[in-house]
Amino acid sequence: MANKKYRFKLNAEGKFYVDDQCIACDACVACAPAFFAMNDIDGHAYVTKQPSSQKEIDDCMQALNECPVEAIGSDGEL
Ligand code: SF4
Repeated sequence: MANKKYRFKLNAEGKFYVDDQCIACDACVACAPAFFAMNDIDGHAYVTKQPSSQKEIDDCMQALNECPVEAIGSDGEL
């Protein structure tokens, strides 16, 4: 389970985030490229922007569910 304490600083502020368990498999980027991107220098994915519509939230939830190491969280809002 992702832990917001270990989220990458690069994540867009808000509900969804990637934490330091990411193994850079690229699944979330392939699944929801409008919201996830790979930081090739540091070797991990991050959230580029937060979803706003229900359809966009569904896209991000699908990426969350496809992550093989549960590195994506949806509880990032303070
Ligand atoms: Fe990282 Fe998970 Fe995305 Fe794969 S699906 S790149 S492990 S956050």
